Amino acid sequence: MGKRLLIAYAHPDDESFGSGGLIAKYVAEGAQVGYICATNGDMGTIPLAMREQYSEVSEVRLAELDCAAQVLGLDPVYRFGYKDSGMMNSASNQDPDSLWYGWQNHPETLLKRVVDVIRDFKPQVVVTFNRYGGYGHPDHIAIQQATTEAFALAGDASYLVEGTQPYAPQKLYYASIPGRMLKLYLRWMTLRGHDIRHMGVNKDLDYQAVIDHLEPIHTMIDVGAHFDTWDRAADCHVSQGRGRGSGTRGYLASLPKPIRRLVSGKYGLTRIHPQPDHDRIDENDIFVGAR
Ligand SMILES: [Zn+2]
Repeated sequence: MGKRLLIAYAHPDDESFGSGGLIAKYVAEGAQVGYICATNGDMGTIPLAMREQYSEVSEVRLAELDCAAQVLGLDPVYRFGYKDSGMMNSASNQDPDSLWYGWQNHPETLLKRVVDVIRDFKPQVVVTFNRYGGYGHPDHIAIQQATTEAFALAGDASYLVEGTQPYAPQKLYYASIPGRMLKLYLRWMTLRGHDIRHMGVNKDLDYQAVIDHLEPIHTMIDVGAHFDTWDRAADCHVSQGRGRGSGTRGYLASLPKPIRRLVSGKYGLTRIHPQPDHDRIDENDIFVGAR
């Protein structure tokens, strides 16, 4: 059986901006990488000119996801079609079709869908967001919680999803950010006059909170050889500024290569299962020990 990695995130662009290097590396090494994209990214702000070309924001975002999936080699892509919930405490959190509302009010539906994907795709390794959803986005938190529960349930024969057989994946990880590098980057941004509690296009990203919620890194993966594929995937997300000007990858992509290699050449993950009894790095490959 070949190596299979399932990544479960929330929006069209989460796969590219944060984890494009990780995905590119494992696809290049022959692994099959499947992607759950839980929402259609409806709440993303898109340039006015693009609004005129498409009838719905989700249409743009999903077309951009198709582009990135092709560049990265993601296959299959499971689109769950929930509505984007917007940032925490915004009115869109209460839209009955949104992921956050769905997860709060009828969690069984989302849970079953993730279990169904795990049993269908049969990954040895599953990656999702950390408990803070990276930067506190409700959709990130919803898919993180659902994936963590589904990881444990998928192998349980008493948990029934019609037409599926139990299958237990072996390793579960939460995506992380090397904290020392993030702190250096934020110090640099502060020097340039940015307020790190109010970053991003909509000024709703609080990087101090991101640091406060970082979890220990157990696995550090070298993705330095895959910047080109990573950048080409991020370039698919034209409506999101190709990641430039928003989020960490945006600023990183503008750095000279040797500096960028130093800052973002390594990808950190927190191992949740099997749970380590220490807080240090002990792996450089997420498939270590997987059968
Ligand atoms: Zn996202």
